[in-house]
Amino acid sequence: MSVKYPHLLAPLDLGFTSLRNRILMGSMHTGLEEHKAGLGQLAAFYEERAKGGVGLIVTGGFSPNLRGRLHPFSAEFSKPKHAQAHKVVTQAVHKHGGKIALQILHAGRYAMHPFAQSASAIKAPIAKFSPNEMSERQIYKTIDAFANSAKLAQEAGYDGVEIMGSEGYLLNQFICKRTNMRYDEWGGSYENRIRFPLEIVKAVRKVAGEKFIIIFRLSMLDLVEEGSTFDEVVTLAKQLELAGVTIINTGIGWHEARIPTIATQVPRGAFTWVTEKVRPHVNVPIVTCNRINTPHDAEEILASGQADMVSMARPFLADPYFVQKSEQDQANLINTCIGCNQACLDNVFKGKRASCLVNPFACRETELLAEPTVKSKNIAVVGAGPAGLACATTLAERGHQVELFERSDRIGGQFRLAMQIPGKEEFRETIRYFANRIEETGVKLHLDTEANADLLREYDEVVIASGVEPRKVAIDGISQSSKVIDYQTLIKEKTFVGNKVAIVGAGGIGVDIATMLTEPTDHHLDDWLYEWGIDKEINYPGGLYPYPDSFSDKTVWVLQRRQGRVGKGPGKTTGWIHKRTLEKRGVGLMGGVSYEKIDDSGLHITQKGEPRLLDADTIIICAGQESVRPFEQSWAEFGEKLHVIGGADYAGELDAVRAIRQGVELAVKL
Ligand code: NAP
Ligand code: SF4
Repeated sequence: MSVKYPHLLAPLDLGFTSLRNRILMGSMHTGLEEHKAGLGQLAAFYEERAKGGVGLIVTGGFSPNLRGRLHPFSAEFSKPKHAQAHKVVTQAVHKHGGKIALQILHAGRYAMHPFAQSASAIKAPIAKFSPNEMSERQIYKTIDAFANSAKLAQEAGYDGVEIMGSEGYLLNQFICKRTNMRYDEWGGSYENRIRFPLEIVKAVRKVAGEKFIIIFRLSMLDLVEEGSTFDEVVTLAKQLELAGVTIINTGIGWHEARIPTIATQVPRGAFTWVTEKVRPHVNVPIVTCNRINTPHDAEEILASGQADMVSMARPFLADPYFVQKSEQDQANLINTCIGCNQACLDNVFKGKRASCLVNPFACRETELLAEPTVKSKNIAVVGAGPAGLACATTLAERGHQVELFERSDRIGGQFRLAMQIPGKEEFRETIRYFANRIEETGVKLHLDTEANADLLREYDEVVIASGVEPRKVAIDGISQSSKVIDYQTLIKEKTFVGNKVAIVGAGGIGVDIATMLTEPTDHHLDDWLYEWGIDKEINYPGGLYPYPDSFSDKTVWVLQRRQGRVGKGPGKTTGWIHKRTLEKRGVGLMGGVSYEKIDDSGLHITQKGEPRLLDADTIIICAGQESVRPFEQSWAEFGEKLHVIGGADYAGELDAVRAIRQGVELAVKL
């Protein structure tokens, strides 16, 4: 066992079985659960993680019946044929000494179909359909359905099940007053409201016997009005133990909560204190979660006694070998999850298969393979931004001789800018990872080197990954004004900014710059919790009190020419966090403007036909990017051996997901 992470890597004795370490790979829906070709790809996905050493894997949510499906075509686990089909998954995990539990999830009122059911007929703010109130008969049938799924899971070879009782799904809907208005024995008092989850646990234990892991995902902090209080959470935790659960996992926040819980803006380990509060009240192992992404942090959490296990989900998309690298004291080589959601949750919410921004191989284990090359070539890569780094290191890993040319004095490209934005510090981890990968794979790095045709002519292949530069905009008076600066220069040179700032462009970068300028100084975890109105005592129902607006002392306007909503940035699951943050800080978000001129008095605009002067001291241009294409006039002479990727290929709607994916996809082909 590594001396470095003794708590994290210690086995956990569950009495009838044991786990090889304290790491639970949390449930994630990947989109492979419903794959047309069957469960082979899902098995390959879990197999890789089991091979990487994770102690206990929890699958994505499977519904115990038709009505519990999240989407009309979401996966169900209710028939013998499902058990048969899942054997490929359990065998793949067991082959490598791992354990795996099937998550049983009933969506309740979050179901995206007209057959949604809940404790009461109250529509969720994020749902399209109103649920029907469940009859008593339907309640009993649903309890049976959970038990049936558990029994089938056992037949499929699963080591256990996780009963999804958090995040605002059906069981949570019974537990909280917010969604349970019943007057029968399943509603009213707290004792009545927790009857349904407890009966489910008892029924599952009854059919599965003593030697089967039952995890209950307990919502310890609902983060919605009329959620549970701390006393209620503890009452339920104790009752769950009596009902026969093996492990209690922590759930934080309903899906409809308007508080970020896993995005990169959330400080690392921001919610482990919640698990710590509950832990002394139960005797079963308890798991903590949310924004834990390094073995160092996980070790500290366990060593300080906050929990018995840590759950990490997205970090296993980013790096299947997280555990093995921790065991071998190679944490520097872990490809760290940066919490961006851009290729995992954003994809799932768009109905696409999950993957990972920093690891495009995730969920494509059978399709995207970096196999050793049969013919080693000399390959030059120009540009050490995300696309160039991913390409160069994958090429070298495959056995090519790779030289990487970067015109600046350091690697990282746009990530080096991003990591300076408050709440995006995690981007630094990706640069650290690639710096170590360059060494590990033997890529020859040339910094401060401007590549040209003469330098590159002799290589077998040339990859241009030279990235982007800020777009220049045409506004009257812009070139004469000393007030104007582009975002890249601002971040790189940390230029002084006045107290009144106009930001031209409301894309991801305009929003990031506004966040940076209005960020409070000396911001710690407790300040963050306070800012979002999170009650650390959990005395208020749901652990929530009305959060205060924290106006910045700077006046900032973020502008776009398009009509419509301003300030959400590009992230499907994170856009609302950016917008809400800016609103809370009093930033002016203005759409439908036209830029007239810039002079000593500021930026002159027209909005809704009315002229207006924004008396800005500083005007920051965040108007997108243009490709950087060095020695383009000579590209033709390189013929087919020249390849262009990332922002150099196409700057519009550039994001790091595309840049890194393009880099890797090219590298596996050359
Ligand atoms: P962007 O998203 O393309 O936004 C550019 C902004 O500038 C738009 O608001 C656009 O709005 C405005 N604009 C464009 N041309 C203009 C012109 N000629 N004059 C004045 N305004 C102009 O670009 P970005 O903000 O630089 O972001 C680049 C990429 O980085 C994004 O595509 C995104 O994927 C990625 N990124 C992502 C995140 C994230 O949190 N996920 C954060 C930062 C960046 P109007 O044309 O309506 O004025
Ligand atoms: Fe983490 Fe981003 Fe990868 Fe999702 S896409 S697993 S949040 S790094």
